[in-house]
Amino acid sequence: MINKPKKKPQRMCVSCRERRDKKDLIRVTLAEDGSLKYDPTGKHPGRGAYLCKNENCISIELKAHRISKGLKATGDSKIEELSKEILELCKADEQTS
Ligand SMILES: [Zn+2]
Repeated sequence: MINKPKKKPQRMCVSCRERRDKKDLIRVTLAEDGSLKYDPTGKHPGRGAYLCKNENCISIELKAHRISKGLKATGDSKIEELSKEILELCKADEQTS
């Protein structure tokens, strides 16, 4: 029997393009109404994009709107709200861990 090392699921951050463990990334999905939603469970159906859990990647990304372009999201105004939401959640996450 060959013991293969277990591979952790890895995803690429759309901002810095680094590959990381899925658990170290934030998933953003495109909702049916065309808006972007933060997906803390990672279980939302549909297209998703990943970001590192750090302020740099999130703010760079959300300014560049690469996620919204990539996922063909509509409603740019919600990006600002979403970025604030994600940043706050990240900070809360850092404090608890
Ligand atoms: Zn990143």
